[in-house]
Amino acid sequence: MEIVREVDALKARRATWPGPVGLVPTMGYLHEGHVELVRRARAENATVVVSIFVNPTQFGPSEDYGRYPRAFERDCAMLEAAGTDAVFSPAPAAMYPETFSSWVVVEGVTSRLEGASRPGHFRGVATVCNKLFNIVNPTRAYFGQKDAQQVAVIQRMVRDLNMNLDIVVVPTVREADGLAMSSRNSYLSAEHRAAAPVLYRALTVARAMRREGRDANAIRLKMAEVVRAEPLAVLDYVSIVNPSTFEETESLNGPSLAVLAVRFGATRLIDNMRLDE
Ligand code: AMP
Repeated sequence: MEIVREVDALKARRATWPGPVGLVPTMGYLHEGHVELVRRARAENATVVVSIFVNPTQFGPSEDYGRYPRAFERDCAMLEAAGTDAVFSPAPAAMYPETFSSWVVVEGVTSRLEGASRPGHFRGVATVCNKLFNIVNPTRAYFGQKDAQQVAVIQRMVRDLNMNLDIVVVPTVREADGLAMSSRNSYLSAEHRAAAPVLYRALTVARAMRREGRDANAIRLKMAEVVRAEPLAVLDYVSIVNPSTFEETESLNGPSLAVLAVRFGATRLIDNMRLDE
């Protein structure tokens, strides 16, 4: 497995790789969820590239960029074991030199929920993914369903801007108690970790209610009630949306996705579940 730090070096190596090429963009501090994306990429491509880059432009000024967990050596060992061919891990200045002044702004799907809670977040995500796609020129790029609004934003960008790659979405990998794996779970105290499966509980209640034929409003209210019954949890938002547009949906006849964000102290967790599957 080779480790590449420079943009030009990655482009030069790319020219020598057999296709198809699968790209897995990550911010590192890897867990089984990331490894599942790599496994999928390994099964579908001749060459697998994983990027590890804690992207400063997708963090707000009061967010956790400085303290975001990092474990590069351990990440590389996990990636090598999963069959990765190359790790691309540029320095921030290699991706954002002082002259940097171009951004990708995806409208509409970014206006609510994560977009509203984290102004500028999706501009940073779309821009860095566009850069990674241009640098790596992958056949396919792999994203986790765990970040469902991110998936919708990237799919919108790829369609709108006629990008030449396929986006592959991988189901959320969970801990035994249902908590979606996340690098940010490492921030949780023991008490908060014990309370955190409330997100999954609210989602499974939502899916059960959908199967009983209950309407969207009743499901939203019940999800909020489940979260509020957990004393350590502070509800940020709960919503039932169209998974492509992220607009609130009243009709549960078509595609519908229950999404929520919950705070435990300073740690904010998100999760989602399709209600129509
Ligand atoms: P991150 O390093 O948090 O930016 O995540 C990198 C990629 O891994 C994103 O596409 C995430 O959606 C995906 N991912 C993160 N956690 C999980 C999970 N528990 N299951 C599946 N994919 C995940």
